[in-house]
Amino acid sequence: MMPQNSEIKLDFDNTEIAFRNKSDKDLEKAYWLFKMVSSNSLIKIGTPLTNFALNIGLPIDGIIRNTIYKQFCGGESIEGCAHAIAELGAGNVTTILDYSVEGEETEANFDQTCAEILRTVEYAKSNPLISFCVFKPTGLGRFDLFAKLDAKKTLTEAEKQEFDRVYTRVESICKACYDAGIKVLIDAEHSWIQDTLDDLAREMMEKYNKERVIVYNTYQLYRHDKLASLKADFAYAQTQNFYLGAKLVRGAYMEIERERAAEKGYRSPIQPTKQASDIDYNEAVKFCLDHINRIGMMAGTHNEESCTLLANEMIVRGISPKNDHIFFAQLLGMSDNLSFNLGAAGFNVAKYMPYGPVKSVMPYLFRRAQENTSVGGQTGRELSLIIREKARRRLSNR
Ligand SMILES: Cc1cc2nc3c(=O)[nH]c(=O)nc-3n(C[C@H](O)[C@H](O)[C@H](O)COP(=O)(O)OP(=O)(O)OC[C@H]3O[C@@H](n4cnc5c(N)ncnc54)[C@H](O)[C@@H]3O)c2cc1C
Repeated sequence: MMPQNSEIKLDFDNTEIAFRNKSDKDLEKAYWLFKMVSSNSLIKIGTPLTNFALNIGLPIDGIIRNTIYKQFCGGESIEGCAHAIAELGAGNVTTILDYSVEGEETEANFDQTCAEILRTVEYAKSNPLISFCVFKPTGLGRFDLFAKLDAKKTLTEAEKQEFDRVYTRVESICKACYDAGIKVLIDAEHSWIQDTLDDLAREMMEKYNKERVIVYNTYQLYRHDKLASLKADFAYAQTQNFYLGAKLVRGAYMEIERERAAEKGYRSPIQPTKQASDIDYNEAVKFCLDHINRIGMMAGTHNEESCTLLANEMIVRGISPKNDHIFFAQLLGMSDNLSFNLGAAGFNVAKYMPYGPVKSVMPYLFRRAQENTSVGGQTGRELSLIIREKARRRLSNR
């Protein structure tokens, strides 16, 4: 039976629920891992050293597989993720299989990535624990090609044909999802290719979101112009009579965006302060809720305040926690206190589950490690929760 909103109990400090799927040994491992990555200098030295060791064939695969890979990735293949998917499912949390191999920018690699994402769509058809599919546009086409289009430069004949192939890949995934009735997220990337990605996403939404929400674009609220884009896209969707799909994130490329803007002498697209990003993020959440009959939203965030805001607003507005237009989402291995407590309270929750061969997902893992240094701030949160749970289980905190 659906929980009544007045009966919903949500407590993000409940570490028992957060770490229910972790044995004492796993918890201990997570503790050491987050302690290690909290050292900025260790990550700085470790990243090139690990790359070097892998490149010259030193047998460190096993170490990586049992530590950082196990924390942040589901497995080496779709089938290899079955255990991790079931574990999340047991905690009422669904999975988004995220093929995280970052290869060279060749047509063969783009085709291979597209084929792999289509396999995730096939897999989702038979597994109700998969709530969304996802792709990153630069996995399907060359970054510089998107950049050239974004800068409104004229493409050569060969480039036009190249873009036609990118379009076909994007369309084949969105159509397969539409045919299967599975939702698909389009990740957002750097600002100087994002207009092109937005145009693509809007076109796909217009085509495939007429009857319900299938395609979701991503809005990075660390940009000062994205709350306005969300509103403009919604107004357009209304005039063209399609549902808007909106994944809300703060944004992952802040430093690079600011550096490029300073270097090239244009106004940074990033908000002046963290607080400004937070305000727009929370405004975007409320805007989506105001129009929830016509917008499918996903709050992709590890921010406790934003999750609390969304959950409370749903409760106050009498929106069912199981409303199919609202999902919370986090990354595998991070903020389990949010995911599992939201899941336990009956909300729709999904985790991005990166997968792929160890060596090929290393760039993804290094980014996670860097984000989790003490400078990034996330580790403080992860570590203090693990310490609290260890104390609750009466394990010693050395
Ligand atoms: C499910 C999911 C999907 C995601 N998909 C994407 C995606 O498609 N594209 C993408 O770019 N990112 C994506 N991200 C990453 C996301 O954008 C954030 O980098 C990350 O989640 C951290 O933000 P937060 O909301 O979780 O929490 P917080 O820790 O509260 O916020 C940190 C974020 O705030 C912003 N910020 C920090 N300091 C400042 C400052 N001084 N001024 C202005 N802003 C500041 C930055 O965006 C920073 O990442 C995704 C994250 C999740 C969980």
